[in-house]
Amino acid sequence: MTKSTILIAVEKAAVDSAVPAAKVAQVCAELRECGHEVMVVHSAVDAVSAITSQADLAAAVVSWELAGGTLQPADAGRPVAGGVLRMLLDRFSARLPVFLLTDGDYSEETPLWVSEVINGWIWLLEDTPDFIAGRVDFAARQYLDQILPPFFRELRRFDDTHPYSWHTPAHAGGIAFLKSPVGRAFYDYYGERLFRTDISVSVGELGSLFEHTGPVGDAERNAARIFGADETYFVLHGTSTSNRMIIHSAVANDEITLLDRNCHKAINHGVILAGARPVYLVPSRNGYGITGPIPPRRLTPDAVRAQIERTPLAARAVSADPVYAVITNSTYDGLCYDTVRVKELLGASTRILHFDEAWFAYGHFNPLYARRYGMAADGSALPDAQSPTVFATQSSHKLLAALSQAAMIHVKSGGKAPFDRARFDETYMMHGTTSPLYPMIASCDVAAGMMDGPAGQWLTTEAITEAIRFRQAMIRLGGRLADAGDRPPWFFGVWQPAEVTDPDTGRRTAFHQAPLALLRTEPGCWTLEPDADWHGFTDLEPGFCMLDPVKVTITCPGVDARGDVSGFGIPARVVTAYLETRRIVVEKTDVYTFLVLFSMGITKGKWGTLLDALTDFKYFYDNDTALGDVLPELVRAHPERYARLTLPQLCAEVHDYLAESKIVRLLNEAFTSPTPPPAVMTPGEAYQHFIRGETELVALADLADRVVATQVTTTPPGIPVLMPGERVGSPESPLLEYLRVLEAFDQRFPGFASETHGVHHEDGKYWIRCVTEQR
Ligand SMILES: *Cc1c(COP(=O)(O)O)cnc(C)c1O
Repeated sequence: MTKSTILIAVEKAAVDSAVPAAKVAQVCAELRECGHEVMVVHSAVDAVSAITSQADLAAAVVSWELAGGTLQPADAGRPVAGGVLRMLLDRFSARLPVFLLTDGDYSEETPLWVSEVINGWIWLLEDTPDFIAGRVDFAARQYLDQILPPFFRELRRFDDTHPYSWHTPAHAGGIAFLKSPVGRAFYDYYGERLFRTDISVSVGELGSLFEHTGPVGDAERNAARIFGADETYFVLHGTSTSNRMIIHSAVANDEITLLDRNCHKAINHGVILAGARPVYLVPSRNGYGITGPIPPRRLTPDAVRAQIERTPLAARAVSADPVYAVITNSTYDGLCYDTVRVKELLGASTRILHFDEAWFAYGHFNPLYARRYGMAADGSALPDAQSPTVFATQSSHKLLAALSQAAMIHVKSGGKAPFDRARFDETYMMHGTTSPLYPMIASCDVAAGMMDGPAGQWLTTEAITEAIRFRQAMIRLGGRLADAGDRPPWFFGVWQPAEVTDPDTGRRTAFHQAPLALLRTEPGCWTLEPDADWHGFTDLEPGFCMLDPVKVTITCPGVDARGDVSGFGIPARVVTAYLETRRIVVEKTDVYTFLVLFSMGITKGKWGTLLDALTDFKYFYDNDTALGDVLPELVRAHPERYARLTLPQLCAEVHDYLAESKIVRLLNEAFTSPTPPPAVMTPGEAYQHFIRGETELVALADLADRVVATQVTTTPPGIPVLMPGERVGSPESPLLEYLRVLEAFDQRFPGFASETHGVHHEDGKYWIRCVTEQR
């Protein structure tokens, strides 16, 4: 049985007299007999901490005296009327069995809504402990069964029947592993249950993933309801496969696709499979090198038309009209679009609009993200006949709770190209395995079920709250260090507005002093307003783009949002190398910024260790500490290069190199042009050369004017710098100059290699795969 806790919240005074105290104790004993844990609290404060920490609550027995008061939550949000009771409902759902305890008459003083949500009254003095416990136990069991999402519930039932299997997988519930010491180790490591639920598609009761029948189909439909989609598909091979499926199902040979240049490589793989002709929509960038949104003026029908005309490959398309467009939402750095606006803009140009939301599966569950996610694109002003069909692909495993590979495709059909399920299913099957892993299907089902009802908002609010606390703490700490007066005043910053406005009062407050309740409910605090200078982007519309509070970019001294380089700088790579020695692994490191994520797995105050590590770094820096004491592994690996340096000396060397090489300016020149390098063949044609062996590795020094065969992505800019089939420009082009700067950086600073994909590193040089051309 699943672990379950019953909460008993009753005022001390109410149980003080001898009879109720004994009665409560007997009820508790009976409930423990039934297999539940029982938690008894005597104050609203303790009840609240039980509610926030005990996710396994299966029922609650509360006295109105304790449950009905007005609570001021610890973080001073809105006072909660109905206190403990409301909180129970917000955290779990109206389905959680709640019993109100009374020792007297039926009370007419309790508000009507209370009667509507509670399961019943318990008369402590009238009924026997056995009877009371029996009622609570029954309700708790029913609740635990009800809350399970459809597939996981059936899978458990199926497992409980202990069937003998005569079908694949041949490990037969794990038994085959027991015949070998190696297998035995594997079996013991994961435990019997994984193997017993790894069953074949021949088990009809559990339904079929390809046919969307039975409990699997129910689970997908349940997920569609939870995510606000018309249809949802579970995909067991990540958003990578999901992206390929959509393009492969939507685009025919030589049709035009509109691609966010800031796209994941799976999009490019889909384009190769489909034989599509890409036209790129190029995002903006700021001074830190952060990739921004695609400016709205590049999404209008006229701009799209102009971009198609500028793209040589598009001239040979079967039709001048694009059939498909994809936008990365949110970006890696947490920038999310007003998807309703994007739909209005791009809907005029395309029949199918795809939001790659690999990092944003939680968008639907918090009002802070209203209008920001693909399935929200519903409230659009577009009449249905002009609406594209919208897809959203999400890696459930990335920011919800699911096993790696678990992903979902959500669909909202639009009148311009109504979703044709039967047709899509063909492609879905082409990319799927005929032997799906059932625990993986259960993982998709559970990822959805966890977000159902009020839990979704509760869980996302918790992550948002922790992120905001961290963001404010960073600024306050920076202020304290600056005010101390006995040390250099610098500290790390956070990429966020310095001030926010309360829309009710119009008052502006410093970010770090703004009430938590405002920051976590008011999207206006996070939107990139066109006239604000903290974000460093131009070409915006009010409200078009919002920074997601849970994706926190920490800034280092050295450059500002506009790209102005300062004399003193601390490159981010040095900082994150130090953090790694402290076992703190960040999500991404750029030139002067790095990114940390606040996901649902965050524990309260975990960020305290990060603050501490950053303060320690500052201490080492300010005290001219020898590099060997800060990055011992690095110095051991490259003693001749680093042994004589101190931490500030290394920072200065790196910063000076970056400043002299004008990396910020090069990045801007190379990657803000609205037109990418010209393509002479489609990614699909380049791939044909690749499989025919007509490609070769070319050293960066010889790369000018060559046609690349594979996608090249460097961080920064974190977006593809070259796509297959694109011709590299002249030796003096900013793109080549930029790649040379990165290559030289890697040679000069061993141990700090740049993050590059599609680049082979050999002898300290960059090699890139190009199409072999007859010259
Ligand atoms: C990670 C990622 C993917 C691929 O997702 P997987 O679930 O790892 O296959 C696709 N698109 C974007 C934008 C991503 O960040």
